[in-house]
Amino acid sequence: MKHEPQTLMDAIRFFADERVALDFVATLRWPNGVACPTCGSLDVTFIPSVQRWNCKEKHARKQFSVKNGSIMEDSPIPLDKWLATMWLIANAKNGVSSYEVARSIAVTQKSAWFMLHRIRLAMEDGTFNKMNGIVEADETYIGGKARNMHKAKRDEVLKDGHAGMVGKAAVMGFIQRSDEPGKSRVRATTIADAKRTTLDPKVRQTVAEGSILFTDGAGGYRFLGDDYNHSVVNHDAGEYVRGEVHTNAIENFWSLLKRGLHGTYISVEPFHLFRYLDEQVFRFNSRDLSDGDRFLALVRSIAGKRLTYDQLISSGTTPA
Ligand SMILES: [Zn+2]
Repeated sequence: MKHEPQTLMDAIRFFADERVALDFVATLRWPNGVACPTCGSLDVTFIPSVQRWNCKEKHARKQFSVKNGSIMEDSPIPLDKWLATMWLIANAKNGVSSYEVARSIAVTQKSAWFMLHRIRLAMEDGTFNKMNGIVEADETYIGGKARNMHKAKRDEVLKDGHAGMVGKAAVMGFIQRSDEPGKSRVRATTIADAKRTTLDPKVRQTVAEGSILFTDGAGGYRFLGDDYNHSVVNHDAGEYVRGEVHTNAIENFWSLLKRGLHGTYISVEPFHLFRYLDEQVFRFNSRDLSDGDRFLALVRSIAGKRLTYDQLISSGTTPA
């Protein structure tokens, strides 16, 4: 883009002009020309007085704004506030809380919380491609009482795969290594438990057969050797690295994830944890981009995604 902002200050100045903000989002959303979100037609005209387009095809909802068909659908929050918030969350290493956003852009904390969750939806990696080459797989636990347990006791509890029973949420992660710095890629997802019946199929869904697979000695990975070139580092025997066989890269990601979650977010309900994972994975996987380019990548992904407030709170949780 010709005038892409490079800093938060730039972004705020730039998007203060409503028309500039609108053109910016429209160009990223519709690189081949503004298309009607209802029928896809390019035969549309802009109506400056209402800042909306009119589709010439015959169907209901002929008029649409740049927000329609995106995560901003039905939001009364102006574009400049949305864009500043996207900048903040794309580029804050440890995330940004709804309280900070509420103070920074002058909206209620509840609105900020809803905005952040919708932006996290845009950050979700929709890829169906399997990982390949050298892949590390590992699982970890977020929240709950076990965090404060003595390590030996914790290991004992967790080894049994009883994560749910101590109030922790189990998370599984993969990192595909790369020879190029900054190009390794992570995927992370919440899992019901750390039993073999969960871990084994998750590996098969995520990693292409025949890949080189490194894990620790957890029983859940025991039967992958037939379909993968599988090597194990036996943490229980005090072994953490054997040549290139280790899970340090995914464990490094767990450290980043936990620092972000514990440092920035007051509490993350297990129900919402997957969205925080998407956020951290997005930032990790775009860590070799400049702040400006990371922001552009986020704005490009806001289309075709929708999350209503009712969907968000359907677990009975409250915004925090
Ligand atoms: Zn149309």
